[in-house]
Amino acid sequence: MGNAAERTLTMGRMTASPGRRVLLAAPRGYCAGVDRAVIAVEKALEQYGAPIYVRHEIVHNKYVVQTLEKKGAVFVERTEEVPPGNIVMFSAHGVAPVVHEEARQGRLASIDATCPLVTKVHKEAVRYANEDYDILLIGHEGHEEVIGTSGEAPDHIQLVDGPGDVAKVEVRDESKVVWLSQTTLSVDETMETVDALKTKFPGLVSPPSDDICYATQNRQLAVKQMGAEAELVIVVGSRNSSNSKRLVEVAKLAGAREAYLVDFASEIEEAWLEGVTTVGVTSGASVPEVLVEQVLQWLAERGYADVEIVKAAEESITFSLPKELRRDLREEAAALVAERGGSGTAEA
Ligand code: SF4
Repeated sequence: MGNAAERTLTMGRMTASPGRRVLLAAPRGYCAGVDRAVIAVEKALEQYGAPIYVRHEIVHNKYVVQTLEKKGAVFVERTEEVPPGNIVMFSAHGVAPVVHEEARQGRLASIDATCPLVTKVHKEAVRYANEDYDILLIGHEGHEEVIGTSGEAPDHIQLVDGPGDVAKVEVRDESKVVWLSQTTLSVDETMETVDALKTKFPGLVSPPSDDICYATQNRQLAVKQMGAEAELVIVVGSRNSSNSKRLVEVAKLAGAREAYLVDFASEIEEAWLEGVTTVGVTSGASVPEVLVEQVLQWLAERGYADVEIVKAAEESITFSLPKELRRDLREEAAALVAERGGSGTAEA
C-alpha cells in the first residue's frame, strides 16, 4: 500500500472523468489509542495464545473485530462470560472500577487497553469527586466510555446528553460544578452545551485541558474543510462508532449536500453519485486504511480518480502498550536472553 502522494498518482492514472474529483481528509483513520488497543490484542494472542477474551468490542469497528476474532480473540459483553483462569482485556473505551473488581472476583487476569486519553478523564472525575464537586459529564447516554467514566464517581456525576438536557440539570451547590466530556463528541455541539450550562451556572468550572481528544478534533477539522467543497461526503466507519457518526454530522453542517457512513465500499450506492462532481472521503478513528483504499478504488472505477489531500493537521502521537503486556514481554525477552546464555538488558 503506497503513501497518500503515491495513491494520488495511481488513482490519477486511472479513469478520471473531467471535473470529477475526490477530496481525501488528512488526518483520518486510526488514532494512537486505537492503534495501541488493536496491537495489544495481537500481542496478547502471540504472547499467551488463544483465546484472549475482550470485554466489549476492542474498538468500534466491524472489520477490526472480525479480523481479531479470526485470530482467536473472543468478544464478550459482560465480565461474567469469561471462564475463570482466563485473560480478559478491557477495550479502548475504558471501564468502571467495578469491572476491575468483577475480573478479580472471577479469577481473571486483566489487561487494560483503555486509551490513556480516556484514563485522563477518569482521573479528572475522581479528583473533582474527591473535592466534592457536582460533575456534569457531557456525552451520549449508553456509550461505553460514558458508562466507564460515570462509574468512577456515580454519586457525583450526572450525564448531560446535549443542549436539550441542560434544563433538567440540578446541582447541590452552584459554586462547585465542573463539566467534563466524552472524548469523541462534536466539538461545536459540545461548546453549545457548555454555553447553555454556563448560562445556567455562571460559576461552572472547565476541565484543565480538552477532554475531546486530539484525534476527534483533527478529523472533524479536516471534514469541515472538505465539507464546504464536496457535494457528497463518505465517512468510513461503523454505526456504533461515536467519532465516525460525528464526522457525518460535521460534514453536513459544513455544507455537504449528503454525507453517509459506510463500513465497506460495497455499501456505497451508485445513486449517491448523481450530479456529484466532488466527493469527500474520510474515516473514523477506529478504521484501518485498507477500508479507505477500497472506497477510493470504488470511486476511481466510476470516474472519480483524481484524489486531492485536504490536510488539516499533522499527527505524531503514539502510546506505549498496556503496562501488563509490557511487563510480561520484558520478562519473556529477559528469559530468552538468559536461555541463550546472553547478558544485558532485555527490552520488549
Ligand atoms: S478517539 Fe481519542 S480517546 Fe478514543 S481511542 Fe482514539 S485517541 Fe483515544
